[in-house]
Amino acid sequence: MLCEQSWLQTLATAAGIRPPPWRYTKMNKTRRISDHWLRTILTALYERREVTRAQIVRSTQLNVASVSLALKHLLSRGVILRIGTLQSTGGRRREVLKLNAEAGYFVTADLEGESLRFAVTNLVGDIRYRWAEDIEIGKCLDIDRVADGVQRLLDKLDHLERPRVIAVGISCPGYVEEGAHVSAVNLGWTRVPLLARLRKRISLPIFLEGSGRIAALAERWLGVAKNSDNFVYVVFGAGVGLSGFIDGKLLRGFKGLGGELGHITIDPDAQERCNCGKQGCLEAIVSSSSVVRQYLASKGHGHEMLPRARLADVFEAARRGDSLAQSVLDRMQEALTSALSFVTIVLSPEVIVLGGDLTSGEDLLLPRIREGVLRNIPVSLRRPCEVKMSALGLDIGLKGAASLAFHESMHDPKLLREICRPPLERHS
Ligand SMILES: [Zn+2]
Repeated sequence: MLCEQSWLQTLATAAGIRPPPWRYTKMNKTRRISDHWLRTILTALYERREVTRAQIVRSTQLNVASVSLALKHLLSRGVILRIGTLQSTGGRRREVLKLNAEAGYFVTADLEGESLRFAVTNLVGDIRYRWAEDIEIGKCLDIDRVADGVQRLLDKLDHLERPRVIAVGISCPGYVEEGAHVSAVNLGWTRVPLLARLRKRISLPIFLEGSGRIAALAERWLGVAKNSDNFVYVVFGAGVGLSGFIDGKLLRGFKGLGGELGHITIDPDAQERCNCGKQGCLEAIVSSSSVVRQYLASKGHGHEMLPRARLADVFEAARRGDSLAQSVLDRMQEALTSALSFVTIVLSPEVIVLGGDLTSGEDLLLPRIREGVLRNIPVSLRRPCEVKMSALGLDIGLKGAASLAFHESMHDPKLLREICRPPLERHS
């Protein structure tokens, strides 16, 4: 707003000179609002959803005057909303605030699995529009199809929505190197410079992360590990991967290669050979395709039925009392329990979230895994650790990419200002 720009900035704008990004917004002659206050308060609102001023002061540890000034600014811009008042026992009324979820949008893309999935989400990750198209697994994916999908959704937005799009978030399978080169067998990519190529087509800021870490972000901010600083997310599908937060920091490891839980040796005497070449890896025993293969072999079927059978079918057979299915799942559960016990002893998470294909077998596996993990931990090391199934379903990649885009935007002064700008003042 004009009244919040300095006369120098106003003159510069009138003369067509782009002013440098400024760290403070001038509210009046003496008070300024720092990016730090805005970032801290918006993040607290994102995490807690509905809060009073007192709770914001407590959780952000900012002083009362700073919070009050920043909230006044954010309320005047429509970035946060008053949703009611709480009456305390002393008769004092406390205003309850929340983030205006429609104050900004992100376009997100999930390249994991058998389809490309795209969405427009609001500021807090709720999906507003979506688009999906099939891909051929293993065949080299043309990057233009990713850019086209993003553009297709941008074109769907009307003239009021389009200026509110802040950034693009992308969830990638495979290995994402620093510098955003991506290697993913399913997409037929080896060190593809995805970010650089997309930037030639998409003018919005783009944030990119591996799908395991994206899922951890989704679980931390939107899922069953909400606001936990110490949790792991273990995904089951074609392989087994681990991601999560330890002491509030995203697990990466040297060169981002941490989390390959699927390749720990869980049974050196196992017959199954892993794709990595080793014998007895966890994922050679418990991956979806391996469990299906073991079940079909126990029934005397060959590999010809493999493409049609899914892990959910094995779960269903076990529920019907099929003893062969139950015995295959017993082996899977034992291997999983051993692996999760290692993880619990080494990392001491307060929550273990299980996701991917395993979620459809929650009733069969979860109680036994919980009990088994607890039993395997020495008494002296036992402490509360919940084992839960993910509840985010197939949207975990799209929602996690929105969460990535929100948090990255908070740390980019230009994008932070963009979110805090009244919608009609944004650039298309
Ligand atoms: Zn392996």
